[in-house]
Amino acid sequence: MSRVMESLRVLFGGTPRRVDKKDMPAEVREVHRQKVGDKERIAALRAELAHKAEHRPPEKKRRLRWTVLIAVNLLFVLSYYFDVQLLEGALTASRFAGFHLADLNSALQVMLAFKHVVINLLIGTTTVFIMWWLMGGRSFCSWVCPYHLLAEWAEMLHLKLRARGMARDIQFDRRTRTWLWLLFAALALATGYTVYETISPTGILSRALIYGPGVALVWVALLLLFEIFFSRRAWCRYACPIGLTYGIVGATSPFTVHYSLPNCFHEGECRKVCLVPHVLDTVIKGRAAAMEVDIGADCTRCLRCVDACPTGALSIKYKGLGDLL
Ligand code: SF4
Ligand code: SF4
Repeated sequence: MSRVMESLRVLFGGTPRRVDKKDMPAEVREVHRQKVGDKERIAALRAELAHKAEHRPPEKKRRLRWTVLIAVNLLFVLSYYFDVQLLEGALTASRFAGFHLADLNSALQVMLAFKHVVINLLIGTTTVFIMWWLMGGRSFCSWVCPYHLLAEWAEMLHLKLRARGMARDIQFDRRTRTWLWLLFAALALATGYTVYETISPTGILSRALIYGPGVALVWVALLLLFEIFFSRRAWCRYACPIGLTYGIVGATSPFTVHYSLPNCFHEGECRKVCLVPHVLDTVIKGRAAAMEVDIGADCTRCLRCVDACPTGALSIKYKGLGDLL
């Protein structure tokens, strides 16, 4: 339980706790000590990483994820275009085979705005809650959200520009997202409107794909430009209330990314590719307080770290089924 509470604290914007070496189990202290002395292994890893940097193997899991993300969004588009009754609506609210499905954050906003529990919405929300709990919560972000895909492409450009000194990475307080979540909940309650929906890039893009482009796309373009030139992945890292909602759902999910201390040599390749590097604080040299650690709720299960780790220290785990990859 304390792992879940700590994971939620970090999700809400807290700094990951550092455990003092003397409070770590003796076997963990011993692994940390041994690794400092394993010069041969560290030199071999450095050579491997230098080789990898030159040859850049394809990120297979990332390609699979993009394919799934595009396919899910395409399903809504095709269903609307061909008037297939099986799937109706957009990502924020839809019906599948007559079953109401609702994005959890939108459903919450609607209920706060209406100030009563809409029964159809409650059924849809419960279905979606269970589904995303089983699938890891924020996996909605990296496997379904259309803004995530555009933001990943914008991030690639941002990194290229930064390498040339043409872009900056301004870091904001991560607690901003929690305050925004509360602000939009309060606005829905006070105004009776789902205010967040008007600026949600997820909703704007999903509706634009299905029903055609609108002026709201200018807002999405401005967000992307801001991320490209001023702050890497700013919206998803510091602002989006949907990400926070799904993070809460995933806090106790059986689907996690799993870290194994004995296999890690702290090269930090995983943190370089991660959207939310604070969840990987445990991989920093001397930080892990246990031999095996489940990565926290803010993890989007994008699996980029699993691909990036040269020593297989990160894997996908489904509780009850063990390591999957
Ligand atoms: S944080 Fe928000 S915008 Fe970003 S991927 Fe998740 S739902 Fe989409
Ligand atoms: S910890 Fe790994 S799977 Fe989770 S968001 Fe970061 S890179 Fe993606």
